[in-house]
Amino acid sequence: WTSETVAVVTGANRGIGFEITRQLAGYGMTVILTSRDAKVGIEAVKVLQEADLLVEFHQLDIVDPESIKEFTDWIKETHGGLDILVNNAGVNFNVGSENSVEHAEQVIRTNYYGTKNLTEAMIPLMKPSPHGARIVNVSSRLGRLNGRRNRIGDVTLREQLSSDDLLTEELIDDTLKTFLQQTKDGSWTSSGWPENFTDYSMSKLAINCYSRYLARKLSDRPEGEKICVNCFCPGWVKTAMTGWAGNSSVEIGADTGVWLAMVPGEPANGKFFAERREIHF
Ligand code: NDP
Repeated sequence: WTSETVAVVTGANRGIGFEITRQLAGYGMTVILTSRDAKVGIEAVKVLQEADLLVEFHQLDIVDPESIKEFTDWIKETHGGLDILVNNAGVNFNVGSENSVEHAEQVIRTNYYGTKNLTEAMIPLMKPSPHGARIVNVSSRLGRLNGRRNRIGDVTLREQLSSDDLLTEELIDDTLKTFLQQTKDGSWTSSGWPENFTDYSMSKLAINCYSRYLARKLSDRPEGEKICVNCFCPGWVKTAMTGWAGNSSVEIGADTGVWLAMVPGEPANGKFFAERREIHF
């Protein structure tokens, strides 16, 4: 990795995203620290630049199409593209483990649609690389399709989402539309959605499915232009999102993401990881 290698991290002004930025920059690459609030982003960049790391700032709000467009134009003009995209930005309004009904739309719009829209804007700009350019999505075990607990009750839907042949972008989007509709009309409680952190779990379930879908969709790119897409769970990490509860530090939480962004050789594609190990979706 050289200073010519360019990584982009979303929601990097604090928490796991800030730490992923710090660790990636520690390998000598150029990391673009992005945040929706320019003021806090610039402050965060200063901290890393003072440690002699190659970190640059650009504003990026993943739910704002204008912001995505400006960022896309900027990275194209300034760096000619990127090698690594870490989709870290996310929100969670669940105070307990309930469905945050009033915020469900915002959670899905940010964690899933925001991530997807930015990814689609970045794919044409991903640079050719012998190891494959990398997309790493920060997800959660709460979004596992086939975990023993906290899964979708509808067996047919679960099977469709689990099947490489049946999984489509439309299926993911339609599942979320149904979930949000039922959240609005109140019928979500008896409809077999995940029981814990329901809206957040659905947003991460969608990201897991999208990672698998995208990896497959991009898999026929020619040699040298491959893009590997994986997602991972950072664990339960002490950040603002968990109210600094959790049993892991940000250093540990960031580790698997950094590893996925950089692991040499024949990389995994379309998989879900935790603690550097593949686990079932
Ligand atoms: P934080 O709340 O500390 O960080 C979240 C980051 O996302 C902040 O920088 C926030 O910006 C940013 N963000 C939110 N919305 C947007 C947006 N529309 N555009 C750009 N940035 C945005 O939480 P964590 O560091 O814990 O979370 C990082 C990721 O890890 C998230 O995807 C989360 O779901 C995931 N995760 C975390 C776990 C944990 O235990 N902490 C467990 C499993 C997954 P701002 O400062 O402006 O709010």
